[in-house]
Amino acid sequence: MSYALLIDITQCVGCGECRTACQKSHGFPEIEARNLNEKNFTTLEQYGDTWVRRMCRHCNEPACGSVCPVGALEKTKAGPVNYDASKCLGCRYCMLACPFDIPKYEWSSNNPRVRKCTMCYDERTSKGQPTACSEACPAGATLFGKRDELLAEAHRRISENPDNYVHRIYGEKEIGGMSVLFLSSVPFEKLGFKTEIGSEALPQKTWNVLSKLPDVVVTAGAAFSAIYWITHRREEVKRFEESQRNNNSTK
Ligand code: SF4
Ligand code: SF4
Ligand code: SF4
Repeated sequence: MSYALLIDITQCVGCGECRTACQKSHGFPEIEARNLNEKNFTTLEQYGDTWVRRMCRHCNEPACGSVCPVGALEKTKAGPVNYDASKCLGCRYCMLACPFDIPKYEWSSNNPRVRKCTMCYDERTSKGQPTACSEACPAGATLFGKRDELLAEAHRRISENPDNYVHRIYGEKEIGGMSVLFLSSVPFEKLGFKTEIGSEALPQKTWNVLSKLPDVVVTAGAAFSAIYWITHRREEVKRFEESQRNNNSTK
């Protein structure tokens, strides 16, 4: 059973209840965060009178998962792309690979994890229950359900109100399809969506990232040498970012 979310942008009133419900359900501070971060898995972007939710799209063939050398990010049969912190090596290739810049990293933690919308997998969707954000939406702008039924509903809305909708369901086909679908009356390209990404998954692009790794990482993710390399690469990246931050603060 594959679940999904259908976000009908024409119905969204920008109240932020989805964001608050997500923060509450994960024990995060309830603030009007404008950007995604390790304690905020969904935001609202305003384009004139139109509000657009930003969150993980739970891609059918996730680029984040395809570059992960240890399978810490995997598409589940239920729909969500799930993250297993116990497998994660902290290399952050997932962050480089995601075409939507979604995953964030807990830099300030002693035991950092990659964080993103989970589609409420552990606590809800793995049991067939709706996500916290869809349950909280007072306008019915975020609907939870089976992906094929939500697609049918989206097509029905377009055919019954052809003047009210762009004739495209964003996420139906883009980069192999997603479990977060969008309907809009405003052209998607005017709402910050990537509309030129095509319908093929991104294995080639992710391969470009992978090919920069030593062969041993690609062919034997469990090899100790790979773990050693990745772990030390993480330290190098962290040191580099800290030095960049220090440089910027002294300018
Ligand atoms: S939107 Fe990004 S983080 Fe989410 S599943 Fe797709 S590639 Fe992964
Ligand atoms: S940081 Fe590396 S190991 Fe962890 S989920 Fe991302 S790609 Fe996988
Ligand atoms: S699906 Fe769950 S984790 Fe994702 S934004 Fe909604 S409430 Fe948050």
